[in-house]
Order: sequence, then C-alpha cells, then structure tokens
Amino acid sequence: MEINSFRFEGKEIRRPFVIAGPCSAESEDQMIGTARLLASQGVEVFRAGIWKPRTKPGGFEGVGSAGLEWLKIVKEETGLKTTTEVANSRHVEDALKAGVDILWIGARTTANPFAVQEIAEAAGGSGTPVLVKNPINPDIELWIGAAERLIACGTDNIAFVHRGFGAYEKGLFRNQPQWHIPIELKRRLPSVTILCDPSHIGGKQNLIYPISQQAMDLGFDGLMIETHINPSQALSDKEQQITPELLERILKLIVIRDTSESSEYLADLRREIDELDDRLLNILSKRMSVAREIGRYKMQNNMQVLQPVRYDKMVTSRIAQALGLELDEDFVKQILEAVHEESVRQQFEIINRSGLSQKLN
Ligand code: PEP
Ligand code: MN
Repeated sequence: MEINSFRFEGKEIRRPFVIAGPCSAESEDQMIGTARLLASQGVEVFRAGIWKPRTKPGGFEGVGSAGLEWLKIVKEETGLKTTTEVANSRHVEDALKAGVDILWIGARTTANPFAVQEIAEAAGGSGTPVLVKNPINPDIELWIGAAERLIACGTDNIAFVHRGFGAYEKGLFRNQPQWHIPIELKRRLPSVTILCDPSHIGGKQNLIYPISQQAMDLGFDGLMIETHINPSQALSDKEQQITPELLERILKLIVIRDTSESSEYLADLRREIDELDDRLLNILSKRMSVAREIGRYKMQNNMQVLQPVRYDKMVTSRIAQALGLELDEDFVKQILEAVHEESVRQQFEIINRSGLSQKLN
C-alpha cells in the first residue's frame, strides 16, 4: 500500500516541520507560558500529552480532558495548531470535539492492533491528520500496519514519528535509535513523511541537538521536541524537556542539507560501494556452498554439525585479524555470528533433507 506524504493545512510541509511543547499538560499557565515563547520561533504545532501512559501506576497520569480546554486557549491566543496523544476512541472523540488539529498515537498504543483499530474507526472521516509513533519493539510491520488501519478507515493524512526502540540494556540512549528501521520504512514507502522525536530517543537534554541534526542529515522531514517553560519542575520526563529558549538555539544551529545533492565524486564512490557489495554477496554465496559441502561430509561421516572448539578458534582468529583492518570488534563479531548461524542452518537443512527423509520414507 502506498502512503502519501503528510500535508499541513493542505500544503506539503517544509523541512524541518517542528512540533514542540511539554511532555504533559500540567496547568493553564505552563501551557500558555510555553506556547507563547514557541509561537515566535518557527514552531508550527504545539504538543501536550493529556492522557499519559505511564509504565507503572502511581506516576503522573495526565490531567485528562481538562487539558483540552488549555489546548483550545493555546490555539486561540497564539495561533499555533495543536496535537495530543490518543489511546482509545473516547480520547479521539474528546480531542476532536475540542478542536485538536492533529492526533498522535503513542509508542505503547501502536504496538496494540486492537487499540489502533478503535482509534482508526473513531478518527476516520474526521479529516484530522494522525501521527503514528513507532511501536516500542522494533517491528516495522506493526508500525506500517497501524498506518494501514488508519488509511482503511478513511484517514489518509499520516506522518510517522521515530521515537526510538526499547532495549533491556540501558546505554547512552533512553530508546535505541536503530536508524536503519526508519530508513527501511522510507525505502519501502518513498513518499512517507517521517519526523524524529529526539526527546524520547535521547532521554536527556544534551542529546536533543545531536540527534536532531543526525535526523536531518538522514533526510527526516521534521522534529517533535518536548519543551517546557520550567523543565526542572516538570511532572513527567523532566530530564529530556528543554526550555523554549534552548529550542530556539538548537533550531538555529541545525543545518539542513539538501539530501538530493549529488556530485560526480559521490557517484564514483557509490559505484565503488555497489561493486564491493556485489563481491561481498558473491563471497557469501560461495562460503555457504562450502558450508553445505561440509554438511554433506559431516553427515556421511556421522559427525556433529556444531563443533564448538573449531568455532571458538575461528572467532578469535578472525577478530584478531579484524583489529588490523580498522574494523570494530563488535561489528566483526556480529557478522561472524550471523554468518556462522546461517552456515549451521544450511548444514542442518542438508542433513534433514537427506538423512531424515530417508528414514521417514
Ligand atoms: C510522548 O510523546 O509524550 C510519549 C509518551 O511518547 P512515546 O509514546 O513515544 O513514549
Ligand atoms: Mn514524554
């Protein structure tokens, strides 16, 4: 299914399309105070969560429908368009009644097809655009599936929001960017609009700028950035919210490069990459055919497929070799593991096909 690019007020958006505002609506003063500062700096849409999905009970779960009134006031007083997160049909109905301009589906909800279906049915026909955040788990099909449900119910103005993916091990990021997933989304559906949410990827104020710049360099269309008039007092996500003043500085620093730019030199380098990839694939294919031959040999001689000592020696020596070739150790390890796993799978396939089928016949 082809998905069209996002339109805002009937027009194609300009890069970067910026959505900013607090993680959560907390009070009328916080909302208006933040929105007034944002309105003067190229922000197009004001965001605020009214219903907050918290990981554990007991946290701040949002002010509920009362916050919709504040969104209305923001819109009247600043002219900013508004957006909020919806997680069920009642949220959609209340938000639409209050004149919210754009709805968004949060990461936890995108992972739940029942909830997405309910939202799609309630929003369809209203003509209100919907942003779809990626599901917490790195599943591109779920992400696209949510958009397909919306389209099937009549919402065709959609943008995707990349907010990173959950991981058990916490590293530098609150949510792993896994950039290859939104890149794959764009490869499969070239017309789609993708925004980046550096706030939930980084989880820290000082990561907002580098992640935003990287997103722009990767050709993303816009940014959704959590912004609070007084981040240290925020009731949710206080480590990652930035002041409107800092947002202004970041937006001025970000360089928007023309992603379609090309040159002869770049074209040459790309040809070289294409050729190298071609050789890599041929070598992999040859390697697998040798592995299959080994499989046949092991089967005829009644030998075990997995030979741990040999595998361990191979990994150690290849990694030592990699270090001299300016290759990262973890990267080489991952490749070797993947190649080895596939070799073992192919060897098992040979054994299953011949050995087992003979026994079964
Ligand atoms: C949010 O944007 O406030 C939010 C809850 O985001 P996510 O669904 O990406 O966690
Ligand atoms: Mn948040």
